[in-house]
Amino acid sequence: MRPLLLRGGRVIDPSRGADDVADVLIVDGKIAAVGRGIPTPDGAIERPCAGQVIAPGLIDLHVHFREPGQEETETISTGAMAAAAGGFTAVCAMPNTDPVTDNQAAVGFVVRQAIRAAKARVYPIGAVSIGQRGEQLAEFGELVGAGAVAVSDDGLPVISSHLMRTALEYAKTFGVPVADHCEDPTLAHGAMHEGLVSTRLGLKGIPSAAEEIMVARDIILSELTGGHVHLCHMSTRGSVDLIRRAKEKGLRVTAEATPHHFALTHERCEGYDTNAKMNPPLREVADRDAIRSALQDGTIDVIASDHAPHHYDAKERAFSEAPNGIVGLETAFGIGMRELVEPGLLSLPNLIERMSTMPARIFHLPGGTLAVGAPADVVVLDPEVRWTVEASQFNSKSANSPFLGEELIGRAELTLVDGRPVFERAK
Ligand SMILES: [Zn+2]
Repeated sequence: MRPLLLRGGRVIDPSRGADDVADVLIVDGKIAAVGRGIPTPDGAIERPCAGQVIAPGLIDLHVHFREPGQEETETISTGAMAAAAGGFTAVCAMPNTDPVTDNQAAVGFVVRQAIRAAKARVYPIGAVSIGQRGEQLAEFGELVGAGAVAVSDDGLPVISSHLMRTALEYAKTFGVPVADHCEDPTLAHGAMHEGLVSTRLGLKGIPSAAEEIMVARDIILSELTGGHVHLCHMSTRGSVDLIRRAKEKGLRVTAEATPHHFALTHERCEGYDTNAKMNPPLREVADRDAIRSALQDGTIDVIASDHAPHHYDAKERAFSEAPNGIVGLETAFGIGMRELVEPGLLSLPNLIERMSTMPARIFHLPGGTLAVGAPADVVVLDPEVRWTVEASQFNSKSANSPFLGEELIGRAELTLVDGRPVFERAK
């Protein structure tokens, strides 16, 4: 592989607090030098990056690739392509496939398919319970040994507090977080957020309390066990308050928010657009604003897409029958720029920290840095380009997005994994 010199971009590396116009030299798949006026080595490819941002590749802790089981909506290969196009060099794949990723062989399958796809690092998340049935713990030692970076029954909450306690204790011995989908199923019977809009639309609602009860429980169990609980896709102001207090106490609690929860509100369900149906549901303005503030002050550590592809036909069903979730990998950065950076809520380095450096740190993953010697997982971003989201342009096999037709700001131009281009936007 020839050395690659990224010349004269705005180099943003939150891991070192760096934000400067500089060059980045990549040799043998690693960051070899960062600085101004680096001489071009013999045989190097030089790429001018004026007006562009050079940053550590984005990292998404929460995606659903549908392989095995639902390859018509996404495969590990197409999901990794979507990741690369979105500027992501690494993603963590949730285990709610068919069969569930609850054993060594299933984790190994994800690892092998990702290597074959060779577009992004795909880290498997193992199931908390066998078959995600919430009864018997999976063999965490086997899962971690085969490459799992966390455990989760996402898609479903861990209902039994005893099982959650045991999972936190057991995961602690293997040094991995338990990522929980916080939802009390006895309260969550609806198709959208419970509020004025659900009443107007005549749809059953899911109250914020359904999430907050489980957030509170998980925080209490984290304190009891000393285990690391990672709270998935936080959506309510009450959850934010609970996490803020847990962090003040110094508990091992981390949290994520999705672009749709900091961009949209339940009003988006008017018209019964099933691309606005997700779980947790879109909430109220005050909730959205609380999520934004939590991303500003670090109460919520990371932005994760919860990329959830569904077939067109499935989303064509009636609102109450349609499946939850939207694709997110190829729009996440552009939504972050439009909703957080453009209005001045977050700086661009803060956004990159929440989408790269912090995800790497809290799940103990490589990446999230441009430090010399680190693997060259790098994204070159155009932070100013305005572009319209179009279904036909997705690399994902699915296009279920409420952002179709909307204008976003900023996108990846070039994505490198181990210094190898895995995505380059056509001119
Ligand atoms: Zn979930």
